[in-house]
Amino acid sequence: MLRRGVYASAGACLPLTEAVAHGGVLGCVSAARHLGLWVLDDSADVHVWMHRNGRRHHPRLPSPCGCTEHWDDGPPVDSFGTPSVPRVLRQILSCRGVEEFFVALESALRQRLLTAEGHQWLHTHTNEAARAAMRLARSDADSGLESLVRWRLRGHGLRVCTQAEVFGVGRVDLLVGDRLIIEVDGRDNHDDTSHRHKDLVRDAHAAAWGYRTLRFDYAMVVHDWDLVEAAILGALWADGAGVASRTE
Ligand SMILES: [Zn+2]
Ligand SMILES: [Zn+2]
Repeated sequence: MLRRGVYASAGACLPLTEAVAHGGVLGCVSAARHLGLWVLDDSADVHVWMHRNGRRHHPRLPSPCGCTEHWDDGPPVDSFGTPSVPRVLRQILSCRGVEEFFVALESALRQRLLTAEGHQWLHTHTNEAARAAMRLARSDADSGLESLVRWRLRGHGLRVCTQAEVFGVGRVDLLVGDRLIIEVDGRDNHDDTSHRHKDLVRDAHAAAWGYRTLRFDYAMVVHDWDLVEAAILGALWADGAGVASRTE
């Protein structure tokens, strides 16, 4: 028994159990992860939606449990015990900032988890920064890393296409300007030899057609963005494509 009258089913995942034990339900990035949305945060901390009148069950002292509480008021939870997708997105916005909001939003759009009503609700219940992110958001990002790269490049005025079809190569993660291909590999990486061979063949085909390919992994995009950005801008500049690649 988690707390009086609340029982964990055999299959309940750990964060879910933790949130209920804490006195609320999953919220914010924890709920997003539970819903299958892409979240940047890889820490194990549980974010708990306490509603407005929640009561904390975990003792604060002597050993704080590490849960992050959210106290926003809202309608009843859905059948999974999690807040709705728009609410989760708004919690991420206030807790983690607009960048993570954008990434989760594109993930929700991609999976068709955000209804037109939900979109409208977000529009009226967030701020201008979030509305700017919503204008930039698309539904075809294949991974959170793609979303993140597009978001972080937005200030440079570059033309960035996701999931672009490149003649002689096939579908690429991102095409910047006319000639620069960016491939981002998720956490299930391309370490094994056959994958590496495929990537090399693909890059050679791209080069034969006049494209340059840059590859980045999760750690680089998330933790070493300065280097990734410098590589992208440097490649554009070296190709003399910097000017031609701009949107205007
Ligand atoms: Zn707790
Ligand atoms: Zn949070």
